[in-house]
Amino acid sequence: MPLSNFSHGSPSNWRGDMPVTNRYTFGIAGERFFRAIKDEGKIFGTHCSSCDRTYVPAAEFCERCLRQTDAWVDVGTIGEIVTFTELYIGYDGSPLEQPEIIALVRFGDGGLINRLETSQPESVEIGQQVQIVFKPASERQGSILDISHFEIINS
Ligand SMILES: [Zn+2]
Repeated sequence: MPLSNFSHGSPSNWRGDMPVTNRYTFGIAGERFFRAIKDEGKIFGTHCSSCDRTYVPAAEFCERCLRQTDAWVDVGTIGEIVTFTELYIGYDGSPLEQPEIIALVRFGDGGLINRLETSQPESVEIGQQVQIVFKPASERQGSILDISHFEIINS
């Protein structure tokens, strides 16, 4: 059965409102990470010199040795596809006319997940290099959504 005909017989979501009043902060590392995306169109990680690991997204503490990370590193905007998946059903539960590719791309020792836009979805491979495409500076709001998508670098 084609995936587009898949139906599990129950709704994929429910509509409604929840009165939530909590406010979450990015934390110290997240604040700087998202500010660099918004203001500079750059991706920064944090480095632990004890473990020689660069965390992307930036983290204030090393998850291995629990020490405070000790340097900020510009990891660039080109990364390598670690894995990817194809979506045939949209977020609202309806079939997509064109499947979307969602990729995990390595930056430093971490990675970012976003849509991969390509005119040749059948030729996407693990290990390919991709470039981050940011939204125009005037539209960025300091969130992960400021990253519009990834694009494959044609070498
Ligand atoms: Zn460490």
